[in-house]
Amino acid sequence: MKKVKLTGVKVVDVHAHPFKEKLEAQSPVGFLRNLSLSVIPEMFSDLSEVEKNQPYPGSNMWIQRLLRGMSQYLNCNEDIEAIVHARNEQSKDFSAYTQKLFKDVNLQGAIMDFGYPQPPIDREDFEELCDIKVWEISRIEPLMVELSEDYESFEEFISLYRKRLQEDLCKEHVVGLKTIIAYRSGLDVEEIDESAATKEYETFKKDTRSAVKRLRDYCFHIAMECCTEADKFMHIHTGIGDGEVVLPKASPSYLLDIFRQEKYKNTKVHLVHGGYPWMEEAAFIVSILPNVYMDISLQNPFTAHGVERIMSQVFELAPFDKVMYGSDAFTVPEMNWMGVKIFIENFERVLNSWVEKDYMDVEKAQYIGEMVLYRNFEKIYNIKL
Ligand SMILES: [Zn+2]
Repeated sequence: MKKVKLTGVKVVDVHAHPFKEKLEAQSPVGFLRNLSLSVIPEMFSDLSEVEKNQPYPGSNMWIQRLLRGMSQYLNCNEDIEAIVHARNEQSKDFSAYTQKLFKDVNLQGAIMDFGYPQPPIDREDFEELCDIKVWEISRIEPLMVELSEDYESFEEFISLYRKRLQEDLCKEHVVGLKTIIAYRSGLDVEEIDESAATKEYETFKKDTRSAVKRLRDYCFHIAMECCTEADKFMHIHTGIGDGEVVLPKASPSYLLDIFRQEKYKNTKVHLVHGGYPWMEEAAFIVSILPNVYMDISLQNPFTAHGVERIMSQVFELAPFDKVMYGSDAFTVPEMNWMGVKIFIENFERVLNSWVEKDYMDVEKAQYIGEMVLYRNFEKIYNIKL
């Protein structure tokens, strides 16, 4: 029987971060740290005591799958010393190494969040380094920090904040704004309350990572308004993230009342990470609101084999044209590369199971695979590759 085959299909990664050109050799422990969502370096320590066949302490299925894939790609033993040695050798020309990895999985474009790492990497330099198309989302939080350092009064801060967001949204390569409010005060955003926000401004100036919920809620609404005016996308971090996320308030369901408001009826929203582990809630939201979309970054590839279960669950409710491929890769090009590989191997299984159940023929299943990999991006963002 004919099967769905996604290898070689064009790929656009709708959520990832740029990485620095790393010319110095990496150590095995350093490489493992680069692969982890933990922000605590002690998650990975000495590897010298590890016995034959024992997984590296702290490593999970994602790391296992990546190391196995890299040993096959680099043609070396599946141990961290050999793998890191081989990638250090091959990545001496870092740009050529990166481009070869991206071409291996036909990764052609990406929407990137230049808010991490800081200080920001230049978009054009990064585009040249990888030889793919790169679009940008502009994060609101670094702008809030920058302006709070320059302006004493809340009135000045907020009017400049709005103006700068409007200017960012005018740039052709900027497809929208992004907020990481889920890392600071949570997604239970309330209505604009100017006097409450004004009162918190002093606290924010002293500690720009403080929760200051009413101030952040206010800035969130302004960003939503600016995206609506400019007809560009509001990207909202939802679900888990690195070790700092406010997990109890990271579910996308907190946002539903806001999205339903009349003034945001036409606002285009992109739920970054599809709310994992609340991806079913995200799937429900995109199934009832015409301008809200989701990606499956972070849950792919970091749940490894879990991507099969997740894609099956997401499509219990989500319309086929509302879900986009993403990786949230953030440190080394191997992450972007393995993101595509893990996604394809898992989603093919799901699509083929639909064909086996006679829900659809193989051609339609193939088309749905292509929708998630690049067609939905082209349509939703109105950009042709
Ligand atoms: Zn991210």
